[in-house]
Amino acid sequence: MLFVERFAATNTIFLFWCLFAPMTAKIVEKLRAAVRDVPDFPKTGIVFKDITPILSDPLLFRASIDLFLERCRGRNIDKIVGIDARGFLFGSAVAYELGIGFVPIRKRGKLPYRTETAKYSLEYGEAEMEMHTDGVTSGERVVLVDDLLATGGTSAAAAVLIRKAGGHLLEAQFLIELEFLRGRKQLEPTPVTSFLKY
Ligand code: AMP
Repeated sequence: MLFVERFAATNTIFLFWCLFAPMTAKIVEKLRAAVRDVPDFPKTGIVFKDITPILSDPLLFRASIDLFLERCRGRNIDKIVGIDARGFLFGSAVAYELGIGFVPIRKRGKLPYRTETAKYSLEYGEAEMEMHTDGVTSGERVVLVDDLLATGGTSAAAAVLIRKAGGHLLEAQFLIELEFLRGRKQLEPTPVTSFLKY
C-alpha cells in the first residue's frame, strides 16, 4: 500500500513539473522579451535594462511578482528588504502577498528617521545606502529584493546594513542578473536567485 501511495505521489509531482516547468520557461521568455535595452543611459557605455514595459503590462507585472513569490512561499520569512527604487516595486508587492513587513533601503538623505549607513560602488558611480535603525530587528529572517544585480555593490551594501541590524539574510533575489559583471561574488556567502540572466 505504502509503495502504491509513494508511486502515486511521485507521479503527481512529476505531472505538475511537466505541466508547470514549460509554463515558467515561457513566462521567463516573455519577460525577457519585454525588457528594453536603452544604450548610453545614464552614462555613455551603460546599457540600461528598462523594466517599465513589464510594469505597465498587467500580465507581465503579475508574472514577475509570481517568480519572487515562488521562491519565498513556504519559507519562514519575517521581512522583505527592497532597494531604492525599483526594488520597492517588486519587494513591496511580494511582502504584501506574503503578509509580512517591507523595509526600504534608500540612497543617503532620503530616510527621515535614525539610519545606519553603508558605502557602495555602482556600475556607474559611488554612493551610500541607508536603512532605518528599527527597520530590521535582531534575529529577523530577511529576503533582499531588487530589480537588477550588476556589479553587486548596492546589494552588498544592503547586506551589510541587514547584518549590522542583526538580521539573518536568507537570500538575495533579482529579476535580472548581468552575469558577466559577477555581482553575486560580492554577496557571498548569501544565496542569490535571479530570473532573467544576461
Ligand atoms: P550594482 O550595485 O552594480 O549591482 O547595481 C545595481 C543597482 O543599480 C540596481 O538597483 C539597479 O537598479 C541599478 N542598475 C545597475 N546597472 C543597471 C543597468 N544596466 N540597467 C538598469 N539598472 C541598473
